[in-house]
Amino acid sequence: MTKVKLHPRLDNGYQYEIDANFSGGTLHCLCEHNSVEVHIGAQTGHNHACGCSKCWKPEGATFSLVSVVGRDNVKVMKNEDKLEIVDETAAIQRYACKDCGAHLFGRIENPDHAFYGLDFVHTELSDEKGWSAPEFAGFVSSVIETGTAASKINEIRSDLQTLGLNTYDCLSPALMDLIAIKTAQLKGTFTE
Ligand SMILES: [Zn+2]
Ligand SMILES: [Zn+2]
Repeated sequence: MTKVKLHPRLDNGYQYEIDANFSGGTLHCLCEHNSVEVHIGAQTGHNHACGCSKCWKPEGATFSLVSVVGRDNVKVMKNEDKLEIVDETAAIQRYACKDCGAHLFGRIENPDHAFYGLDFVHTELSDEKGWSAPEFAGFVSSVIETGTAASKINEIRSDLQTLGLNTYDCLSPALMDLIAIKTAQLKGTFTE
């Protein structure tokens, strides 16, 4: 029985070197020449493994690793003309390199969205060390939709748990609460 590959940074025991003074770095796409560069001017938060079908994953990976950062801290520095939005109708507009397919950042333009103001980024695209470490795994059951054998799902959940990542089939309780709070605020039913 071959093991399902989760993500290179999870499978290979990558060590996150968390640095309290870390203040960001530069993401670059996978193109060898003229790579797109995006500067992230802050530490990221809510880093997690995501099993959804929309997030960008490195080759062979079942999960993406994705975190968020305030959109004001995200700046395209080089080769912006190579970026295109993967799906203009999606809530998160993912900006990908036309040549290599890597997603540089995902942005929400709807101010009523719970995560408006936060961009989604894959810090593995940076050479800097000190980025926030994955905290949980979200949308785990969704990997079945993208072709992972359903019979592997318990093994996948247990591998993620062994790595210290609690597994959820949507997002973590903290993030689901933020979505519910936004919904309540929009409906006028919100109480502290
Ligand atoms: Zn590229
Ligand atoms: Zn995702």
